Amino acid sequence: KKASRSFKRKDTVVKIKEGLEIGGNHIIMMAGPCSVESEQQLRTIAKSVKKSGAHVLRGGAYKPRTSPYAFQGLEIEGLKLLKQIGDETGLAIVSEIPSADLLPEFEAYVDIIQVGARNMQNFHLLKALGKSTKPILLKRGLASTIEEWLMSAEYIMAGGNPNVILCERGIRTFEKYTRNTLDISAVLAVKELSHLPVIIDPSHAAGRWDMIEKLSLASVAVGAHGLIVEVHNDPEHALSDGAQSLKLNKFSQMMDELDKMAVVL
Ligand code: PEP
Ligand code: MN
Repeated sequence: KKASRSFKRKDTVVKIKEGLEIGGNHIIMMAGPCSVESEQQLRTIAKSVKKSGAHVLRGGAYKPRTSPYAFQGLEIEGLKLLKQIGDETGLAIVSEIPSADLLPEFEAYVDIIQVGARNMQNFHLLKALGKSTKPILLKRGLASTIEEWLMSAEYIMAGGNPNVILCERGIRTFEKYTRNTLDISAVLAVKELSHLPVIIDPSHAAGRWDMIEKLSLASVAVGAHGLIVEVHNDPEHALSDGAQSLKLNKFSQMMDELDKMAVVL
């Protein structure tokens, strides 16, 4: 199988754009709001996370909300804002694709196409992404095994796209204290089983901002190639996932802690 370690012994390094790669020794930081809410919101957050050292701006334009009455995202306008502010700041862009029919728009506006946890086994979507030239950030499903997750990567690779980045974002367990349970050992497991780069999303795992810094340090310690973190300029008024979003200064502080840790490692 194309995703497996036996198929390729050397770690895969995925090129995100000119001068930016993931899968080497350097930790790639992706940060930004859960949802793109407005031009001003996105620009404020983007400038700040860029200054703090982030490489990639995250932002949802099509939001997979549990309730149909919750904010659904700015959709195509959100993608255009991401592209515009990515160009302004020099940050690469990652955003979640809701369905295969929007692939041309995502090809035009983002650098990394995110497959959300709820779509990890949308095989029709995975096949379509196998034809894409963009790197794919494949989140682990809400209750998926590591084997199922890697098989989903296989769908994308079998279609002809070798540029898959895995993302552990917490799984459903009996434990209710946190939103999900961060499976930190999944990083070790996929590095053993696969050559693909793997990152951690501590925000959706914990569901609360006050655990993000420590979980991020743990992610780097365990060997993750990067992090994707939710950051907001005004979390109390965020249209989605405010409770797990770091304020701008907290993200900056966390980056300092990660820098200190990189010296140790
Ligand atoms: C997100 O990144 O905002 C998101 C919805 O993530 P997940 O698919 O991991 O729930
Ligand atoms: Mn979110």
